Amino acid sequence: AKTAGRRTHYFFNDELREQTERQNAIHKRMREGLKRHEFYLVYQPIIDFSTGKISKCEALLRWQDEDGNMISPAEFIPVAERTGLIHELGQFVLEQACVDWAVVHKSGYPIEVSINRSERELNDMESAKRWLSCISQHGIPNTSITFEITESLLMSNKQRQLQILHYLRSQGVQLAIDDFGTGYSSINYLQRYPVDYIKIDRSFLSQAPQNKVQVALLDALLQVARALDINVIAEGVETRQQWELLQRQRCDFAQGYFISEPLPLNELLKFLKDWQF
Ligand code: C2E
Ligand code: CA
Ligand code: CA
Ligand code: CA
Repeated sequence: AKTAGRRTHYFFNDELREQTERQNAIHKRMREGLKRHEFYLVYQPIIDFSTGKISKCEALLRWQDEDGNMISPAEFIPVAERTGLIHELGQFVLEQACVDWAVVHKSGYPIEVSINRSERELNDMESAKRWLSCISQHGIPNTSITFEITESLLMSNKQRQLQILHYLRSQGVQLAIDDFGTGYSSINYLQRYPVDYIKIDRSFLSQAPQNKVQVALLDALLQVARALDINVIAEGVETRQQWELLQRQRCDFAQGYFISEPLPLNELLKFLKDWQF
């Protein structure tokens, strides 16, 4: 038994070492990729049902490596979070989004931009202050910025992070709870923390409107949000049926391939021109 135990131990170490090496390799490629400008942003329009206009866009990070391969954020963001590179990546995202949004505003579209923030980026007040000065340096009002954070952060009750979120919001930045409904939530937590939007994860809509349970859950969620004065953004709207269901249920905002996939800035500007007027 002793030998077997030891073997398992070695085996486990090998696997762990391999995993670490793989992560280190991605980390190194990301660090170099940042210098080589392999990262860029695309923007996915979010529609306000009450006006039929695009009122904001979500900034989504893209990485095309030196061999031309697209690497999904679902793959590299978790590595960046683990290695700490998320701070540099997050800084790039905020700066680029501000540069691009100055162009959007100058082009005559008074819309907002929503930016994903990882929990690890909310570790210190200095970073938060740096973000605010970056936003103002580019002439963007704080109220044009929404930060999206996942619901697990609210539930973790991490005082420092929550304090930073309160501070950002006191300065006019809006907050959205991302992927709402995917954790062990959560409705209770909504009362305790100041949030402006919840983004309902697309798994909530995946079988609607055929699946009556999904429709009932969606309806319940919308009612609670309304009572708490929180706006609801439905994610992953892919079909006309989903769109019409959300409209019937008086959901506030929608985002998804049915409206538009995420677009590079120049294509977004064309899209806005055709859509808004
Ligand atoms: P997320 O924040 O939930 O972003 C929504 C994801 O759904 C995006 O995937 C988007 O392209 C995709 N999507 C949009 N509409 C539809 C639709 O109608 N159907 C389907 N099936 N998918 C749709 P993406 O761009 O691959 O991003 C994956 C995740 O990576 C994001 O999920 C977010 O958690 C993370 N991420 C992306 N950019 C950033 C960033 O700048 N910072 C941080 N911290 N995380 C990011
Ligand atoms: Ca998001
Ligand atoms: Ca989401
Ligand atoms: Ca999601």
